[in-house]
Parts: sequence; structure tokens; C-alpha cells
Amino acid sequence: MQRVLILGGGFGGIATAHRLKQKIGDKVEVILVDRRPYFMVGFRKSWALVGESPLEAGQKLIDSLARVGVDVRQATIDAIHPQEKAATVDGERIQADAVVVALGAELNPSAVSGFSEHAYNIYDPNDIPRAEKALNEFKGGRVVIGIFGAPYKCPPAPLEMAMLIHEKFRKKGVEATIEVFTPQPVTLPILSEASCDSVDSRLLENGIRTYGHHKALSIEAGEVVFEKRKIGFDLLLGVPPHRAPAVVRDSGLTGPSGWVEINPRTCETSFEGVYAIGDSTQIVLANKKTLPKAGLFAEMMGETVADRLADVFNGREPTAQFSGEGGCYFEVGNGEAMMIKGNFLEEPAPAVELTESSKEFYDQKIKFETDRWARWFE
Ligand SMILES: Cc1cc2nc3c(=O)[nH]c(=O)nc-3n(C[C@H](O)[C@H](O)[C@H](O)COP(=O)(O)OP(=O)(O)OC[C@H]3O[C@@H](n4cnc5c(N)ncnc54)[C@H](O)[C@@H]3O)c2cc1C
Repeated sequence: MQRVLILGGGFGGIATAHRLKQKIGDKVEVILVDRRPYFMVGFRKSWALVGESPLEAGQKLIDSLARVGVDVRQATIDAIHPQEKAATVDGERIQADAVVVALGAELNPSAVSGFSEHAYNIYDPNDIPRAEKALNEFKGGRVVIGIFGAPYKCPPAPLEMAMLIHEKFRKKGVEATIEVFTPQPVTLPILSEASCDSVDSRLLENGIRTYGHHKALSIEAGEVVFEKRKIGFDLLLGVPPHRAPAVVRDSGLTGPSGWVEINPRTCETSFEGVYAIGDSTQIVLANKKTLPKAGLFAEMMGETVADRLADVFNGREPTAQFSGEGGCYFEVGNGEAMMIKGNFLEEPAPAVELTESSKEFYDQKIKFETDRWARWFE
């Protein structure tokens, strides 16, 4: 019996575990470790922020994967030993035939002076209830949504939040300006200039201003400080800088980018039998930009690794490859969504487009979640 140790039970880890059990259930022992007991799609934070639905309504217990034979352990990964295909979990060393690192990205608010004192962390589920309350009690004024580092998860999410907050305020009759700043040159660098312009105009039609090339230096009471200017705020909602989780950084798996640099098609790391998938990794695209951090891609990478391992364990040459084809939804209010989609690994340049907004894409977004619930947890 082969043993696969999967570190992290988010999008990538669950997809790997489920697919392995589906394909070669009788030949493989699958251990899945996560300290968090539940799975939740990222966009649940947008809905909870504007009071549309509480976070709890989107949480599914991952130990229900035991139903398909996955050994789910709720525990902390203390160390990864890639050379030995092993990890230390709650003090216990677990040895495996293959290790899949799927530990996501860590939020690092302390990298920005003043963040914890003055900003609401809209990417941290623990801070969402406080941010929701502040928005509910907001009587009017200047709301600033700040992106404090790149790369960050789901690039359109802060813009989606801006649109949903605008809609909430409009319904409540709250007079507010909403501004979004980013350290990147444009709002969504993966898109063409024309598509970025169309996103910016769509935001502006709703009174939302966007500022590129704005790398914040610090936050003071009521002001975000940049090199050449300050932006005042009455309410600051922040996306903190991201980095690879400490246990990954300490393992020797990360490269000069600070992320795990993998073979983009096979998700292999430089250590034999050790794979890395999802937000902990960095894939550089043909145009030198990087693959956006998205749940769908983490899932697709996980399924690729599972298919390859199934072949290897069956004594066959592995053929599965990560295609890089997919996208994510960008909700714009009024029950509509746009989609950013395409082939991100296309040569000589990614072929990525922004669709028009429609109710159909919104419905697809809802289905994105319910499909995964049905596949993995029911
Ligand atoms: C607001 C928002 C909206 C989003 N919307 C979308 C969307 O519409 N579509 C989309 O595709 N993506 C979306 N995303 C992005 C998506 O959530 C992430 O890209 C995805 O979760 C990455 O999957 P992953 O498996 O790499 O990591 P994660 O899903 O983050 O899983 C990593 C897991 O590792 C665990 N872990 C980390 N360190 C340890 C440790 N030391 N010990 C034990 N466990 C540990 C964590 O608890 C976590 O469960 C959104 C994200 C946000 C923030």
C-alpha cells in the first residue's frame, strides 16, 4: 500500500485526496492534515462582509472525506522534511511515498505598520464580523479598500467587495465614496489594457475610483501614507500582504520568489516525490506575469497530481498535466457577475478575457460552490 501525505485541506488538498481515493482507493492510503476543521470557498467573505450570508452557512466539515476513505487529521503541521518525504504533525513524524504541499498563502498584516490598529482585514474570516459591523454602522464618508501587496488571492475579489458595498449603501441610502488602491500598475494586470479600462469604467460608473501604482508605506489614524501622498479614510478595509506559510518557508521548498517554484505542468518541486499546488506556489506565465492565486487552479493542480500519482503507483508513465485553463467570477452587484477566463499557460502569451456581466455567470458562481459541496462532502 502506498501512502500519500497531503498537507493542507483547502481547495488543492481536498481535490487531491478525493481524486486519489476515486482513482486508486484500494492501492493508496491518503492522509490529509489541516488545523482548520472546515472548508469554505473564498467568496463567502464577500457575501459575509455585506451581510448577505453568514460565514458559517458556507462551511463544510472536511472530516466527512472519511466517507471515501481519506484519513483526515485535524492538526498543525510543525515541519516539512522534503528530502525524506515526511512531515512533523502535532509532534509526530509521518513518513510517506509522496507528499503534496497544499498549504495556501499566509496573510501578513504586520508587514504594514499601522495595519492591525487602523484597518479591517477583509481577507481574514476572523475579522469579517467586525468589518461587517463597521459597514452596517457607517453613516457616510470615505471608504478606502487597500491592497497592500501583490500577489494576493483572487485578484478581482477586492473590486467585487467594492461593488457589493456600493450596492449595500445605495439600498440603505448611505452617502459614501469608495476608492480602491493597488501597488500594481493597473487594477487587474492579467487582463489587456482595454479590459482593465473597462473594469475601471464599470467601477467608476458606480462612483468607485481606482488608483494603480499605489504602494502604501504605512497607515496612520485616518490616513494611508504613500511615498508622494496620503489618502484619508473614514473606514479602511485592507488586503494585507501575502507570503508562503512559515512551515513552507522553513522547509527549503521556496525559491527566490518566496513561493514554491514548481514545474507548471506537473506540479513537481525540486525534491523527488514532493509536489506543491495552489496558493503556496508561483507559476510564471509566458508574459512574465504570474498565475493568479485561485481555488479553481489549486483544485486543478491537485487533480493533476492525483492522476500522475495514480499512474506512477500503477507502474505507468504519468501523462496528466495542469492545463492552466479556467477562470474566476467577479460579482458586480444586481445579481450579476463577469468572468475572467482563458488559457493562462498559453504561449507566447496568456489568452485571457473579461466577459460581459450577466445573471448566467452569477448563477454559475453559485453552482461553483454547490458542485464542490456535492462532489466532496455529500
Ligand atoms: C475574498 C476571496 C474571494 C475568492 N474568490 C474566489 C473565487 O471566486 N474563485 C476561486 O477560484 N478562488 C477564489 N478565491 C481564492 C481561493 O480561496 C484560494 O486561491 C484557494 O483557497 C487556494 O487553495 P489552496 O488549496 O492553495 O489553499 P487554501 O484553500 O488556503 O488551503 C490551505 C490550508 O492549509 C491549512 N494550513 C496552513 N498552514 C497550516 C499548518 N501549519 N498546519 C495545518 N494546516 C495548515 C489552512 O488551514 C488551509 O485550510 C478567493 C479568495 C478570497 C480571499
